Amino acid sequence: MFQSSLNYKADKKSIGFVPTMGALHKGHLSLVRKAMDQNDIVVTSIFVNPIQFNDPGDYENYPNTMEKDLALLEELGCDIVFCPSRESFYQEQPKSGFGFGNLDHVMEGANRPGHFNGVAIVVSKLFHSVLPDRAYFGLKDLQQFLVIERLNKDLGFGVEIVGCPTVREESGLAFSSRNLRLSKEGLENGLILSSTLSLVVQKILAGKRVKEVLTDARVMVAQNNNVSLEYLEIGDMVDLSPVSKFKNGSRYAVCGAIWVEDVRLIDNLIFEFP
Ligand code: AMP
Repeated sequence: MFQSSLNYKADKKSIGFVPTMGALHKGHLSLVRKAMDQNDIVVTSIFVNPIQFNDPGDYENYPNTMEKDLALLEELGCDIVFCPSRESFYQEQPKSGFGFGNLDHVMEGANRPGHFNGVAIVVSKLFHSVLPDRAYFGLKDLQQFLVIERLNKDLGFGVEIVGCPTVREESGLAFSSRNLRLSKEGLENGLILSSTLSLVVQKILAGKRVKEVLTDARVMVAQNNNVSLEYLEIGDMVDLSPVSKFKNGSRYAVCGAIWVEDVRLIDNLIFEFP
């Protein structure tokens, strides 16, 4: 725990917290800006959390632009940057296991075993260290956001969890630290994910049937030799359960993961069924 967090609390100053794994881009910075708008003090953490990577190669190749990140945060006016060492967080391998119901069994949960357990452990440790009033998470990682909301309720952290919209390049590609690992062609090929998600939403809103829309969209992505599709699904906004019939006025998300040049990209679009 920061001594300063307790001091800020004693002074009745609110603390906004933005957890990141660094290699900061405009998506991260939008979270920091929102936190600055809503709080007296803003803490951003930079920590590449080893226990949330189910693929060791992804962890080893995770981009690190620490000097640039610190300069960006200073320029923006972020008050505190918290960079815990791996040793300070994991003196030994954690043994606790969290369960998040359906969220463990669909989409990211199904394709990245142990991922959300690692996320839940690190976010718990970060919350204990920073003692935030509000914490900011991107809806780009919608399933992670739903997991954190659940964790916060179940463990009684009492933090206000704020979901922030996905920030995109003009092309529609969602900003992601992993984009740094893509070539120019890779970035162009990656666009198929956001364009397919948009098409799915258009068709659903036009009244087409879920099953057919998803099948057509999966075939369309599979026809592109430069990417491979891991999943493309529509889920509800509670725990991403599959949807067979939409309810008027309810919100849903179409979510997908693809591989491009050995890099895994995820994205989603949230929509309301009219
Ligand atoms: P990461 O460093 O990838 O763990 O992301 C840190 C936070 O930034 C998470 O809450 C992400 O959901 C959020 N984030 C990542 N990319 C974007 C984006 N393109 N737009 C908005 N938030 C994002």
